[in-house]
Amino acid sequence: MSAFPIDLISDTATRPSAGMLAAMAGAETGDEQRGEDPTTLALCAEVARMLGMEDAIFLPSGTMCNQIAFLVHCRPGDEILAAANSHIFRSEGAGAAALAGAQIATIETESGIFTAEDVAHRLRAPRDRSPVSRLISVEQTTNFGGGAIWPLQVLADLRDLAQAEGLVLHMDGARLMNAAVGADVPAADFCQGFHSAWIDLSKGLGCPVGAVLAGSHEFIRRAWGWKHRLGGAMRQSGVLAAAGLYALAHNLPRLGEDHEKARRFTDLLRGTPGLGLSATPPETNIAFVDVSATGQSTDQIAMTLARHGIRLNSEGRGRFRVVTHLDVSMAEVEEAAFALIAAVERPGYA
Ligand SMILES: *Cc1c(COP(=O)(O)O)cnc(C)c1O
Repeated sequence: MSAFPIDLISDTATRPSAGMLAAMAGAETGDEQRGEDPTTLALCAEVARMLGMEDAIFLPSGTMCNQIAFLVHCRPGDEILAAANSHIFRSEGAGAAALAGAQIATIETESGIFTAEDVAHRLRAPRDRSPVSRLISVEQTTNFGGGAIWPLQVLADLRDLAQAEGLVLHMDGARLMNAAVGADVPAADFCQGFHSAWIDLSKGLGCPVGAVLAGSHEFIRRAWGWKHRLGGAMRQSGVLAAAGLYALAHNLPRLGEDHEKARRFTDLLRGTPGLGLSATPPETNIAFVDVSATGQSTDQIAMTLARHGIRLNSEGRGRFRVVTHLDVSMAEVEEAAFALIAAVERPGYA
C-alpha cells in the first residue's frame, strides 16, 4: 500500500490488479529469445495489428523502445528533430547522443506539438560540416506538453515532408492509446507513414512492466540485434506479456474514464484565485496546474497535500503535473481537487 492513497504523480503509479495477476500466473510460456514464448508472440502480433505495422518486439521499457529505434535508424553524426519538452530530450539520460551518437535539435513548443513547417526550417543542407537531418520524433500524447493529441492533419503534413526529404518518422507512443481513445481514432491511423512506433504497457494500461515497439519486418529484425546487445532479450517473458494482453482487453477500453477524471479535476479548480490552468480542458489524462500566483511554492502545497495522503508532481517553475489513472477513482480525484483548493485558500490547512 502506498503512503499516498491518492497518487496523481504519474500513471506509472498503477499496480497490477487481481485479474491481471491471475492472467500472469496462468500464462503459457517458452524461451522468448528463441521465439518460443507463445504469449509474447501473441502480444507482439496484437500490437503490430493495432498499430498497422508488419511486426513488433517486446521490450522492458519505453525508454528502450526509443533508444533501440534510434540505434536502428540513426548513425553517429545524425540529427533527430524533437520537441524541446520531449521525453527523449529531457528524461532519457541523453541516450540518443550517448548510444546512437545522434544529437537532438529541439523545437520550442508549449504543447509538445510542432508542424511540418517548424521542421522544414530546421532541416540541414547536405554539407560535410553539418549534422545529417535523419529522424523526426513525435510524442503521442505529449507528456510534458500536457497530454495533447497530435491531430491527424499535422501528422499527414509531417509524413509528406518526411517522404519528400527522405526522413525517418518515429513515434514515442508512450500514451498513444490515450490519444486513440481520446480522439476516437484508431491507433493505426496515427501511425500511418511512420517507420516505428511503440506503446507503453506500464503507464495508463496498468502493467507492472513492458512496452512494445513496432515497425517493418526489417526494422524489427534489426531491433532484435540491439535487444540482445543491450541485455533486453528475455526468457519466459510470457508472464509479463500476459499482463499486456490483459491490459489491452480490460484496461484499454476504460482509458476514457481517466480523461474524464482529468477534466473533472480542472473543472473543479477553475475560478480559484491564484490557480493557473490551460484555457482548454485536458484532452487526455494529464493536466498542469500553475500555483506560482498563490504566494506558496509547489513544495509547500505538496507538503500540505501529503498530510492528506495526496501526492502531486512538482514540475518546477511553480507548476504541478497531475496525471489520472485507473488506481484513482473519480471521488478521489474530486477529493484531491478540493484539498488543493483548501491548501491554496487556507495556507497550511491541517
Ligand atoms: C514514460 C515515457 C517514456 C519512457 O517510458 P518508460 O517505460 O518509463 O521507460 C517515454 N516517453 C514518454 C512520452 C513517456 O511518458
